[in-house]
Amino acid sequence: MVDKKVVIDIKRDLFGANEEAASENAEIFKKHGIKSVDIMGSVGTGKTHLIEALCERLKGKYRILMLAGDLATTIDADRVAAHGVDTLQINTQTACHLDARMIRYALNNVDLSKYDLVFIENVGNLICPAGYSLGVDKKIVVVSVTEGPYMIRKHPLTIKRADMVVINKIDLAEALEFDVGHLIADVREVDANIPVVAVSSKTGEGLDGLINVLDL
Ligand code: MG
Ligand code: ZN
Repeated sequence: MVDKKVVIDIKRDLFGANEEAASENAEIFKKHGIKSVDIMGSVGTGKTHLIEALCERLKGKYRILMLAGDLATTIDADRVAAHGVDTLQINTQTACHLDARMIRYALNNVDLSKYDLVFIENVGNLICPAGYSLGVDKKIVVVSVTEGPYMIRKHPLTIKRADMVVINKIDLAEALEFDVGHLIADVREVDANIPVVAVSSKTGEGLDGLINVLDL
């Protein structure tokens, strides 16, 4: 069993400064009337594809900026930019997650009056990104049917820190004999109330529902 007391103390000591910066980011977003979403998930779970699909559906309604967190490349930002969406790459060099100060630095380098929706693609891993608040409206976790059946059970704290769970690539579930219902049940074990949406960024299934839940 995890000693919850110890976990909370660690958060207070190490992440307090980040929480402060995140609150300031939230103020900046609010001041400019910008909605913001942080997208977390492992490498290969389809975060970028999901953002591309959401941008296609939402770019007529919102002026979108995508912030792409990655250790080195601009691959994801380039893919989203191909949809006519402004992007900004945050290369974290060695850091395996984005933190609130990185987001602040990015926000300081764009004209925020030009946007009303910001998508942040976090660095591809399902562990530490959850520990760092960025100051966004919604923090979502993306898992997919190609990662095996234990992603939720192995990352309960990530689920606890998130506002919603997206199960991606459901178009592949049947071929992989993957039980999406089982994964949803695992989420429910950790958090009985968190919204869970199953989607396919490829076919578009579930995306309207996701947009609804995201209040976009
Ligand atoms: Mg990506
Ligand atoms: Zn990290």
